[in-house]
Amino acid sequence: MTREPVPAWVALGANLGDAPQAVRDAIAAIARLPGTTVEKQSSLYRTAPVESSGPDYINAVVQVATTLTAPALLAQLQALEQAAGRERPYRNAPRTLDLDILLYGSARISSATLTVPHPRMHERAFVLVPLAEIAPGLGTEEALESVAGQGIARL
Ligand code: ATP
Ligand code: CA
Ligand code: CA
Repeated sequence: MTREPVPAWVALGANLGDAPQAVRDAIAAIARLPGTTVEKQSSLYRTAPVESSGPDYINAVVQVATTLTAPALLAQLQALEQAAGRERPYRNAPRTLDLDILLYGSARISSATLTVPHPRMHERAFVLVPLAEIAPGLGTEEALESVAGQGIARL
């Protein structure tokens, strides 16, 4: 039996090396994942580090349709992070590429390695602004107001 594709939203972030290129390359790589198509992609945004340090971040959000399960999607995204040279020396360290699953259909997942919806998405302008650009119906308007003080600029 073939699985029906599920709509999912993935947040991209980078602040080391050529961050805009890393985000663009990652979107192209996501489009090549098995059973996965990129349905929508936000603009690229530049944001000051929030709980992190180092250079400004480049952020974006994509909407995919995927037949991968949520854990399989996470594993594929982590492989892309590894291929981009991701290191985790300490929490919230600067990074070459970060790929987070924001939403996976209407699933609520709480495992040791995966929490969906992403538990911190509503605190972060760098997630909510690009998400609202491509999915204005997702009900992020109220949350957007609460992060209006966080600096974010469209590239
Ligand atoms: P934050 O989660 O606050 O954005 P981060 O992205 O810097 O922090 P990472 O070091 O990239 O954190 O990831 C730590 C772990 O988070 C991963 O190994 C993964 O198992 C787990 N994780 C839990 N939920 C998710 C999710 N929705 N998307 C991606 N990773 C997740
Ligand atoms: Ca993250
Ligand atoms: Ca992450």
